[in-house]
Amino acid sequence: MAGQNPVFIPGPTNIPDRLRQAMNVQTMDHRAPDFVEVLAPVLEDLKRVFKTSDGTIITFPSSGTGGWEAAITNTLSPGDKVLVARFGMFSHRWIDLCQRHNLDVEVIECAWGNGAPADLYGERLAADRDHEIKAVLVTHNETATGVRSNISAVRQAMDASDHPALLYVDCVSSLASMDFRMDDWGVDLAVSGSQKGFMLNTGMAIIGVSRKALAACETATCPRCFFDFRDMGAANANGSFPYTPPLQISLGLRESLNMLFEEGLDEVFARHFRLAEGIRYAVKAWGFQLCAKSPELYSDTVSAIYVPQGFDSNILTNHAYDAYQVSFGIGLGEMAGKAFRIGHLGSLTDVMALSGLSAIEMAMKDLDYPIELGSGVAAAQEYYRHSTRIALSKAA
Ligand SMILES: *Cc1c(COP(=O)(O)O)cnc(C)c1O
Repeated sequence: MAGQNPVFIPGPTNIPDRLRQAMNVQTMDHRAPDFVEVLAPVLEDLKRVFKTSDGTIITFPSSGTGGWEAAITNTLSPGDKVLVARFGMFSHRWIDLCQRHNLDVEVIECAWGNGAPADLYGERLAADRDHEIKAVLVTHNETATGVRSNISAVRQAMDASDHPALLYVDCVSSLASMDFRMDDWGVDLAVSGSQKGFMLNTGMAIIGVSRKALAACETATCPRCFFDFRDMGAANANGSFPYTPPLQISLGLRESLNMLFEEGLDEVFARHFRLAEGIRYAVKAWGFQLCAKSPELYSDTVSAIYVPQGFDSNILTNHAYDAYQVSFGIGLGEMAGKAFRIGHLGSLTDVMALSGLSAIEMAMKDLDYPIELGSGVAAAQEYYRHSTRIALSKAA
């Protein structure tokens, strides 16, 4: 019965039945008018989620990493300088991708558990008088450490020195779960994917592209073919794809957008905040520490939690699966063995979150962790009861 349990990994996330049903269709001719009628409104409606009126949405059949590769190769040329901070496994992987594309990567090293250092970005940009830096890369929500960064502050740091570099933001594990404002924050390339906040299976990279970024495609010389924005943009303008489009996931995305808009984006963000707060109360009740160093950095989609000294988080996550068939995120990179992660994003309710806390408590107790069974669950229950009462009294 393992398949009955929700997953608590920070993506891919649980797929609601409504989305699974929307994708359960017979093959359709992608050149027939039906598909054209699906694609164009989906691309248009995605703008509401990115909060852009000025940008263009481009999708590719790939995971989020393909979205990164597309963003980079369409807008930069080998040897171009890019500025990026490393504070977790995902920012690290983005650096690796840039290096393999022969970009000149200037890395700001930060202790894991911190967010993007807007002040240090600002210093480097101010010192770059000849504007050699072409790209500024930031991970909005570092999924390895459960840290949210202030993108608006990075934009302000760029504007403070009137720097013309493009701003690239990884919002794979935040978009459609936490507030994201492409236009307000002046983001040029916002990279996301289908399998996190959109509650779908993996397989579609979803990218918000500013006008300035589209213009950069004309001069960028990094090789690309499958991921060429220009081919995709030209085909999309006729409601089509330059190759066979992923039909099922496009239909799933249509229904996912319907679900997000029915709930309301602000309500979706508020739900994620509430779910995350409950988890954080549980962590506090156990007496454990989050990797995120301070409250303004807390992610509402994933919590990375240090296990006490002398315990191995990999043994814990393995045991939780073996004994109770519940998946939690492992510690990545520097966090391996030291922390586990609870993904609390996408299709999730209080009751589901409580079941995850309950399962990890059982696994911890089995392994002689110094916790009391039910302590984290009770702390989260109190918070969920209380915040539900407030919501109900507001509605009344
Ligand atoms: C999931 C994720 C990605 C993309 O990973 P894929 O496995 O390629 O979809 C990128 N960045 C962050 C922050 C993520 O959480």
